[in-house]
Amino acid sequence: MLAALACGQSPVFVRKTKYLNGARAVVTHTIDDSTRFVPDCVDAMDKYGIKATIFVSTEREPISTLWPRLERAIADGHEIGSHSRRHQCKWPDDETFCAAAYSDSEIAGSRDDILAHTRQPYVWSWCYPCGNCAGLGFVQQRLAAAGYLVARNYPDEARDGHLVPNLNDWAANPYNAAYTQVAQKKGGIALSGNTDVARLNAKFDEVYAQGGIYNLMSHPQWLDYGPDAFYERHLAHIARRADIWYVPMGPLYAYRTLRDRTEVRRLKGPIRYAVSANLDPKTYNGSVTLVFLAPSTLRPVASGTPLPERSDGMTDRWTDQYYRREGKTLFVTVRPNTILEFRPLTN
Ligand SMILES: [Zn+2]
Repeated sequence: MLAALACGQSPVFVRKTKYLNGARAVVTHTIDDSTRFVPDCVDAMDKYGIKATIFVSTEREPISTLWPRLERAIADGHEIGSHSRRHQCKWPDDETFCAAAYSDSEIAGSRDDILAHTRQPYVWSWCYPCGNCAGLGFVQQRLAAAGYLVARNYPDEARDGHLVPNLNDWAANPYNAAYTQVAQKKGGIALSGNTDVARLNAKFDEVYAQGGIYNLMSHPQWLDYGPDAFYERHLAHIARRADIWYVPMGPLYAYRTLRDRTEVRRLKGPIRYAVSANLDPKTYNGSVTLVFLAPSTLRPVASGTPLPERSDGMTDRWTDQYYRREGKTLFVTVRPNTILEFRPLTN
């Protein structure tokens, strides 16, 4: 059927996009600790369509009452990350403490607890309790060996270093990964909080204008809820933008690897492309977005199944497959290890 196409009208592969679905910027959110405030926080995020990594300590109550809500959160596009089993802390930390606190039980045990209590297929993300031990190579190696792809820090809480670490991209070292800023009241050993909505929004605006990754961090127990309070006012500001990818932190880091390792190869004969990534599909279970130049009479088909067109709506799931068109440019979002072909659109 493609033989009917005039010369120069064949689809041409151009590039892989930096973010899923060719989004201009990313919003990712993380929340910490097993507290009774977690359900209220997830409810608030869902009002605005914000997707988060929910870091829980799997032996800290009230975790036993939280699992059903966490299971629903996974279905709604959030991620459950590990915040260890017991949330041990020491200020200042030292290598002896870290060697003991980062035991197999805390690292792999908490991971297995999440897998046992939910249907999440993998645990991508770790969060350092109290920010302790994040800079130690042997700790990072233990986390990597347990399969974590990213570990979020909480830098220098005693001197308010945790308020605005101002990382607006992927971390160079994903096992000591910072974030953009916190939205929360004063808590823990911090000197202050970060609750000024104008200031919170201005930082987001700056990252959005740069096409960066806006990575927001909060503790549910140090928030005020309701549409007039600072947390939801900030969520409302960053919510529901068509050119933003809303994604938890683990799948965001998985995307970078998946995108970099995905190969697109033109096959002989009719115009078909092999899309492949030599990665474990259980860990790297997301889609990547490929840009093609293609005439408007064609639609992409992945492994024999025509992809649905999605011209509007939020980019807030990392495993969906679809395409959208901007003029002659097609943004094709597929999971790798597929054969992509193009067929005439039929009415
Ligand atoms: Zn914590």
